[in-house]
Amino acid sequence: MLITQLKSKETITSLVNGKKIFIINCQGCKEVHFPEKEAAEFQKELAADGKVTGTITTDYICNPENMKLRLEKHMSEIKAADLVLVFSCGVGVQTIAEYLEDKTVCAACDSCRLPGFQGVTPLEYDCGQCGECYLNLTGGICPITACSKSLLNGQCGGAKNGKCEVDPNMECGWERIYRRLEKIGRLDALKSPVQIRNYATDDEV
Ligand code: SF4
Ligand code: SF4
Repeated sequence: MLITQLKSKETITSLVNGKKIFIINCQGCKEVHFPEKEAAEFQKELAADGKVTGTITTDYICNPENMKLRLEKHMSEIKAADLVLVFSCGVGVQTIAEYLEDKTVCAACDSCRLPGFQGVTPLEYDCGQCGECYLNLTGGICPITACSKSLLNGQCGGAKNGKCEVDPNMECGWERIYRRLEKIGRLDALKSPVQIRNYATDDEV
């Protein structure tokens, strides 16, 4: 289980600044305290400048089959947007980013640790509930769970033929991140300031 908290207004505003956005809300795991009211109020503010091309509000966006059907119905609105802003836990954001692989998909929330259930596809798109979501810097691939060392600032240098030096059965997470950023034209994200993990946000809430 986890708790989802909105990122600060400043952070979200700087992500969407001047861009056309498509919004996706997940209200699936209500028991995990999704900030529905806060998110709805903030989205009214975002919509006020006419840059929201469309919205989907549904449950369990971490179910890829269900989500694929819903996204297909809104594809023209999604295409009209510069980025897709997702209000959900890290599993949901990763599910959307995987499907919309040519689109910039941003996380509007941080996911904090709480023991128990998280999403319906936790094995495919895992969220370590680190409390400070980095998906906006990594093209929607979680560096905490896709990299064996949970590195935040790029590859360790040990990968061989694209495989992780810790687990040769898995792809190097940072090579995946590089390819995704290249695909969506966001390699500039690799020049972001050095990320220092705040382990205080990693604690259970
Ligand atoms: S960076 Fe990964 S572990 Fe942290 S909240 Fe985002 S998806 Fe979850
Ligand atoms: S090889 Fe890649 S996935 Fe493995 S620890 Fe190094 S950076 Fe992380």
